[in-house]
Amino acid sequence: MSGNYFSGLFKGVKSLLVGMGETWKELWTKKVTAEYPENRKTTLFVSDRWRATLTMPHDENNEHACTSCKVCETNCPNGTIQVIQKVIETEEGKKKKVLDRYLYDLGMCTFCNLCVLTCPSDAIVFSKDFENATFTRDRLKEQLNKEGSKLREKKKEVKPEAEKSAPEAE
Ligand code: SF4
Ligand code: SF4
Repeated sequence: MSGNYFSGLFKGVKSLLVGMGETWKELWTKKVTAEYPENRKTTLFVSDRWRATLTMPHDENNEHACTSCKVCETNCPNGTIQVIQKVIETEEGKKKKVLDRYLYDLGMCTFCNLCVLTCPSDAIVFSKDFENATFTRDRLKEQLNKEGSKLREKKKEVKPEAEKSAPEAE
């Protein structure tokens, strides 16, 4: 009876010492806990693969690459994207459909990336900006094309003079 008591006591003390040994060891190891949000501007690491919110990059001329083809809207599995077009008249006097409003609902998005992968113009990308908490779902809806922005026209290739005037091979 007393043998059981002492073996139990010994096991208890041993397990306590093992546990305390681990605690002591961890006390001196390098800490890996991310101190968010204090580390926002220092050590915060967000993987390049992170999909936080859909964005439409604009250049310094407030131009984007979206042709309003609606491929992304068609491929989105749950109606997160709405591409609204408008008709404009070009310098040559032709009517042309261009992007009016590109609407995105972050609250609906499943971050499947289908829209980005299928866009023929590489006009949209996912940003790593993950701090999107709001108090109302309505604030998760946004327009991705900026006010006054327009489609970046592709530059026409200008052939060098020598190439233009070279005689054709027979
Ligand atoms: S984002 Fe891409 S796929 Fe979507 S409408 Fe614009 S050009 Fe088309
Ligand atoms: S990531 Fe998926 S769900 Fe989100 S907008 Fe793109 S296609 Fe739609």
